[in-house]
Amino acid sequence: MSAPHYLNYIAGEWVDSDEKLDVINPATEQLAGTIALAGEHEVQRAVTAARAFADQGTLYDMRPAERAQLIYRIANKIRAIAERGVPLLVAENGKTTAEAQAEFNNAARYFEYYAGMADKIEGRSIPLGEGYVDFTYYEPLGVSGQIVPWNFPVDLAGRSMAPALAAGNAVVVKSPELTPLAMTLLAEACDNAGLPKGALSLLCGYGDVAGAALVANPGVDQIVFTGSVATGKTILHAAAERAIPCVMELGGKSAAVVFPDADLDQLMNSVDWGIFFNSGQVCSAMSRMLVHEDIHDEVLARVTELAAGQVLGEGSDESTTLTPVASANQRDQVLAMCATAEQQGAHLVTGGRSAERPGYFVEPTVFDRVLPHMNLFTDEVFGPVLAMSTFKTEAEAWQLANATDYGLVAGIFTNDLNIAMRGSKALKAGQIFVNEWYAGGVETPFGGVKLSGFGREKGQEALYSYVNTKNVAIRLLD
Ligand code: NAD
Repeated sequence: MSAPHYLNYIAGEWVDSDEKLDVINPATEQLAGTIALAGEHEVQRAVTAARAFADQGTLYDMRPAERAQLIYRIANKIRAIAERGVPLLVAENGKTTAEAQAEFNNAARYFEYYAGMADKIEGRSIPLGEGYVDFTYYEPLGVSGQIVPWNFPVDLAGRSMAPALAAGNAVVVKSPELTPLAMTLLAEACDNAGLPKGALSLLCGYGDVAGAALVANPGVDQIVFTGSVATGKTILHAAAERAIPCVMELGGKSAAVVFPDADLDQLMNSVDWGIFFNSGQVCSAMSRMLVHEDIHDEVLARVTELAAGQVLGEGSDESTTLTPVASANQRDQVLAMCATAEQQGAHLVTGGRSAERPGYFVEPTVFDRVLPHMNLFTDEVFGPVLAMSTFKTEAEAWQLANATDYGLVAGIFTNDLNIAMRGSKALKAGQIFVNEWYAGGVETPFGGVKLSGFGREKGQEALYSYVNTKNVAIRLLD
């Protein structure tokens, strides 16, 4: 049977192209599907349509209740389409069926959540004294250009598409080269829900061609980027040329800080999610653990046991707990970082190798005695690799947790509310988890400090990344 072929969605039309991209299943190394490859021409076409749509104000001028209903219908269509999308996402990304289902659920949740805000984007009335009336509007930015990575393509596309559309913008999304297939179903869901033509285009193309063309296009008013620091900086330079705003969701090297009174069952559940979920390819992964020296041996034994219990396999197999990384290139980078860690003197407890089977599998890996001068302490790995270190005092714990250039998330495991509250202030990160890694959800604002980026996604806060505040000051005449 030949692999399915997917198209780009440009302003309400499904468009093929002369060139196509092969998408490989990382668990089997077989072809998962192909997709039409968009270049500069297709990006121009999408932005031109989006610009015209935004300038007409079709979504913004719609009655807010109607816009809210439209956004809510998209959520329902995403839920309806998930049955087709989940196996596709498993095949192209390698993740488990449950994880792929969670992506579609989350994408639908973003549309539900921002549908609830679409009719509550209210300006303020500002008193200026006798003889004046002053008020503000929140107007859409216009055209939101959105660039998505491969680790959670459906979830992350929903995260930025939903608030942008709810605020009345037109959106042009560039999907990632490695995992563009399931994302096309988001465009299908929008189309099925009756989103007007021109409000959305979704294209797959190479980052340095289609991505760069989107950022440079004068018709784009904003870039929302999720991806690596290196690409983020390239995009920021290009965006600076046109002085357009950006939301940057970049990488992380986040630490869990574990105190002697921590609930270790709860901690192990968090480690399982924190570093083995999606094979550690999560920007907010628990890639470091700082454990108090009094409980180091016990925690290390339990983490080692957890790693040994991982079942490697295809995402479609229900017994699988650890899936492959996304590509051969990704696997080789992860293994190279493990080799460097060993050379620099970190103690390899388990893993550190590829698995002897087809697919791009990396064994669950635990390093101990990882010191601040080592690359494994400071650099993002993006694989199932946990770096453990110890601390003696609370002050040292916060200092070590903050000793990287990143600041995406941080976790505190303790029963002592005072320690948790002090840590929530001392840790330099966009979000703090106490006693549960990944606590929070669509409702909670998310983003980084330092090299992890700026701007916020999720929660009510994110909606205001997609609007301009316009103030109107009126002098009343006698
Ligand atoms: P990447 O930077 O290589 O690619 C991300 C996207 O940018 C892709 O769609 C790619 O095609 C595009 N791109 C590449 N070069 C471009 C250019 N010159 N101009 C415009 N677009 C370009 O990142 P990746 O390897 O796909 O993703 C992994 C990275 O993403 C990790 O660093 C991870 O931490 C980060 N990430 C962050 C978050 C977050 O919310 N903070 C979430 C997921 C992933």
